[in-house]
Amino acid sequence: MPRLHRRAFLSAAAAICAAPALAATTMPSTQVDVVIVGAGAAGIAAARRIAAAGRRYVVLEAADHVGGRCVTDTRIFGLPYDLGAHWIHTPNLNPLTKLGTRRGLEIYPAPASQKVRVGRRYAREGEMEDFLAAQVRANRAIIDAARRADVACEQTLPKDLGDWRPALEFVLGPYTCGKDLEQVSALDFARAQEREAAAFCRQGFGALVAALADGINVKLSTPVLAIDSRRNVSVETANGVITARAVIVTVSTNVVTSGAIKFTPDLVAGHLEMFGKLSLGSFDHVALELADDALGFESDDLVFEKSADRHTAAILANVAGTSLCLVEVAGSFGRELSAQGEAAMVDFAADWLAGLYGADVKKAVKRSHATRWNHDPLTLGAFSAAAPGWQKARRMLMPPANDAVWFAGEALHESLWGTVGGAWDSGERAGDAVLRRLGGAKEAPGAEALPPVRPKPRAPRSRQQEIGAAPGLFAR
Ligand SMILES: Cc1cc2nc3c(=O)[nH]c(=O)nc-3n(C[C@H](O)[C@H](O)[C@H](O)COP(=O)(O)OP(=O)(O)OC[C@H]3O[C@@H](n4cnc5c(N)ncnc54)[C@H](O)[C@@H]3O)c2cc1C
Repeated sequence: MPRLHRRAFLSAAAAICAAPALAATTMPSTQVDVVIVGAGAAGIAAARRIAAAGRRYVVLEAADHVGGRCVTDTRIFGLPYDLGAHWIHTPNLNPLTKLGTRRGLEIYPAPASQKVRVGRRYAREGEMEDFLAAQVRANRAIIDAARRADVACEQTLPKDLGDWRPALEFVLGPYTCGKDLEQVSALDFARAQEREAAAFCRQGFGALVAALADGINVKLSTPVLAIDSRRNVSVETANGVITARAVIVTVSTNVVTSGAIKFTPDLVAGHLEMFGKLSLGSFDHVALELADDALGFESDDLVFEKSADRHTAAILANVAGTSLCLVEVAGSFGRELSAQGEAAMVDFAADWLAGLYGADVKKAVKRSHATRWNHDPLTLGAFSAAAPGWQKARRMLMPPANDAVWFAGEALHESLWGTVGGAWDSGERAGDAVLRRLGGAKEAPGAEALPPVRPKPRAPRSRQQEIGAAPGLFAR
């Protein structure tokens, strides 16, 4: 059956929680150089920078595990199940690839192509060509429009996409950005770095990120309640107050705007507005354990549907060669579904698969689980996508507030937003900025020698970029 080839086409368009044994709630020395709020990818990356410079620091994490939106569960299905991020984008440039491999984790390339289901069969050659051609045109239209003005992606789409339009809208919007295209900035979409190649970590992407927190001073189950930066910085938690010279806040944009952390002085209205313009979209996995080879999937098959409307999904099947299939629901439809609860999500996934592969699928479903990131109070959504007109907010939030409070995380990356690699880069950047502010390194680290900061080599321009098409974003 024909497959979409990512390199040729799709580049045109995207434990028990694996937590290391870290200290729980006992508070550290109450005075440090830097407090880092949140032990997701950005917080861990920032901490490694600060630690490498020999500065005193602590990472305060509200959850009872590290990883944030990149966490691997092994309890539910007895095998690695990434509850959040799973795809390692641009593995050749992604620092996490090398760091994971050094820790003995297995990283293997994702298949370079995807499939499309048309009702009960796979798309024929000619249908694939139509779909791919429409996709290239849609991407070009978004990029061209973004050169003129930062409008909504939806507004820029060619009018004649025909009956592939709903499928394209799903792939480019909810599946890639977590939001419907009318809510996504064309400039944000266009700036996203090409993510054409991808890889997976057999032990789970979350297990990889957790491994990188080994040796980092993290206090789990320690929510930060308030940050006062009027004189030095004092960070209030349920277990006491810590003073510091600087703080790096890595919580999600939706957590910032929720008011869960009280800032004194108040974040200026402009700051809050910008976080609001980078709000999180909706993206969830409905994980189904299927009886062996029930649907004839190959390992890590990615399948889209030629859908009629927005009530659609994607499948990542036989994850790492196991019997686990992830039905991915996203955007406004995914949000509505997740609001109905896990049972409704599992029902939708089973019905949807039955519509594409026949009613017997339902009999093949063994155990199931659905994530509901919008309802997790420590994230309140999946990943950021800028509102039309607001791509600029990502850069505008990079300078410190009140000269002592830095923000970091996936939302503060101009091209790798919505990814673990972007969160990691952003954390390292904030760590470096704080070190400059504090006057550089204290002494060489005793633990792991970390590499110096070097500008990353630019990816060679692909044919797709040369012809001016959009970044490929289909790895999610
Ligand atoms: C379902 C899903 C699928 C995804 N798929 C991919 C993918 O395939 N590839 C990819 O690269 N990216 C993917 N992403 C995006 C990726 O997971 C995120 O971009 C990245 O993990 C964000 O890291 P972060 O450090 O910026 O934020 P977070 O991971 O959210 O870290 C912030 C931390 O702050 C903590 N926190 C919150 N409030 C407080 C408080 N008051 N006090 C202390 N701590 C607090 C949180 O518990 C959390 O640990 C996906 C995300 C989701 C949800």
